[in-house]
Amino acid sequence: MHHVAPPNPRDRSLLRQESEMMAPSRPAFGAAQRPDFITALEHDTFDVLVIGGGIVGAGVARDAAMRGLRVALVEQADFASGTSSRSSRLVHGGLRYLENGQLHLVFEASQERRTLMRIAPHIVRPLQFLWPVFDGARIPTWKLRAALTLYDALALFRNVAPHHALSAAAISTLEPALRRPGLRGGATYFDAATDDARLTLLNARAAHDAGAVVASRVRVDGLLLDARTVRGAHAYDTIANRSFDIAARTVVNASGPWSDTIRRFAEPNATASVRGTKGVHIALPAERVGNAGAVTLLSPVDGRVFFVLPAGATTIVGTTDTDYDGEPEVVCATPEDVDYLLRSVDAYFPGARLTPSDVIAAWAGIRPLIGGDPRHPDALSREHAVTTTAPGLITVSGGKLTTYRVMARDTVDAVQRMLGVPAREARTGTVALPGGAGHLEAQREAAAQRTGSHALAAHLVHRYGSEWADVWSLAEANGALAVPLSPPLPYIHAEVAWAVAREMALSLGDVLMRRVPVAWQLPDHGLTLASALAASYGWTAADVAEYARDAATAYGPAALPLVTPSRGS
Ligand SMILES: Cc1cc2nc3c(=O)[nH]c(=O)nc-3n(C[C@H](O)[C@H](O)[C@H](O)COP(=O)(O)OP(=O)(O)OC[C@H]3O[C@@H](n4cnc5c(N)ncnc54)[C@H](O)[C@@H]3O)c2cc1C
Repeated sequence: MHHVAPPNPRDRSLLRQESEMMAPSRPAFGAAQRPDFITALEHDTFDVLVIGGGIVGAGVARDAAMRGLRVALVEQADFASGTSSRSSRLVHGGLRYLENGQLHLVFEASQERRTLMRIAPHIVRPLQFLWPVFDGARIPTWKLRAALTLYDALALFRNVAPHHALSAAAISTLEPALRRPGLRGGATYFDAATDDARLTLLNARAAHDAGAVVASRVRVDGLLLDARTVRGAHAYDTIANRSFDIAARTVVNASGPWSDTIRRFAEPNATASVRGTKGVHIALPAERVGNAGAVTLLSPVDGRVFFVLPAGATTIVGTTDTDYDGEPEVVCATPEDVDYLLRSVDAYFPGARLTPSDVIAAWAGIRPLIGGDPRHPDALSREHAVTTTAPGLITVSGGKLTTYRVMARDTVDAVQRMLGVPAREARTGTVALPGGAGHLEAQREAAAQRTGSHALAAHLVHRYGSEWADVWSLAEANGALAVPLSPPLPYIHAEVAWAVAREMALSLGDVLMRRVPVAWQLPDHGLTLASALAASYGWTAADVAEYARDAATAYGPAALPLVTPSRGS
């Protein structure tokens, strides 16, 4: 397939068109504006500096900025490059927490599921799950139905639809490739699916829109101490390669698996408060697995719940849950992790006969959990904690993607108490995230008319919501940007231009792993595409080589072969 090379999006004429679309009050959240943000970080004094651009830090920054505080948010790598791009991408009540009797957690998460489907309906979308029950299962049919009735009740019966009990025959109709021998029955129920990296990015962008100074590739190397009180941080700009200080009245440590490192900048002898457990997912060709939709299953290996999730042309299977005390930067899937997941899914989809060579990508994340017994990772608490770890320093840890807004609220309440001002709740649950306003159906219709393609319209509205027209107008201004990036994947070149100009993508990895996430969907993890894109966007052969390294670390376990990038870009 012949690809037309798109023009350099940093080209002046294109940027001018984009600047005309911008809200007058705030600069665009783009690579070109980053130097101004660094200058602001260096020269202003902030009410609160947030360390960590995962879902929690981005959520805290948005909440604090919406309360009118002067906010800075710094992320050492890319937004969501830590745990927040390695989750199961579910916004869920947490059905399996019912087993531990954590009803309050399920109640809270169910409310959040509803809220997030309201403020970001384009990327938090209902997903129906099928839970089949087999002979001898740890959770028999009666127990499943009781749990699902409770699940509906804890959502105050306001979930998308209540659960629905099914016979074995009905299940086989819904999922024909599922094993039939031993199938007793089961049920369908609803949760929601999201794109975790995009949800995080939208919160970082919303924080920026609300007035926060937000920058990635800014690492905190130490804390500024006045006597023993934290008054800001020593920072390092990893792009300009220079150190500078950020002055702040309070500092929030939202660094997930890195929390204890940041705490120890203030209290070198602090004991560990966050326990990491590793979770691995694999992507397989959907037609090899044969699932029709999302399925919740119990692993035959150890009885744990795992998911088989539809994701375009791929099926995602996950997750494992094992204790992890290594460096967060190098966490990766091992051949044993992949083997566990393949054996688990194979047991239920007998026609698949999967082998490691079927695996398109495998990736791992670290759950930053609080307390609990490390010998039983499954039982570690999914609750969150907000603690004053040193004068001026508040640490927020634990929780999950689904409940980030609650974590943010509790954290900013603590910040306001520390600042000595009354806690004033932000409207984070009623104001839409970027692209979240308006009716999806109407947007899809308008997009289909303007783009001339229902499939492209659905794709753009799903990824960008009401901002689909801004992305598409780049393609209207320059036809080369309307060209698909890597057919049959639905992404187009305009999305790369948008990522650089409006979503602070600074590297090939920022684009291809998190904003236009082809890396886990293509067998070469996007290396061919990285080579093809590099020249148009000013990235060098060294940048492509860096992409190859990062993609290999993030998506290829030792067992998976990786192609090397082609030269000449
Ligand atoms: C396998 C798996 C599946 C999961 N599935 C789900 C799910 O389906 N639904 C759900 O609700 N939850 C899920 N979770 C939980 C959820 O993903 C996490 O709770 C959440 O992403 C943690 O976000 P965080 O912001 O605390 O951490 P992170 O996303 O790791 O963010 C911390 C950030 O801090 C940055 N940082 C660290 N040190 C510094 C420094 N010195 N200077 C500047 N920045 C720094 C890091 O680079 C990182 O980006 C899952 C977790 C895992 C591992």
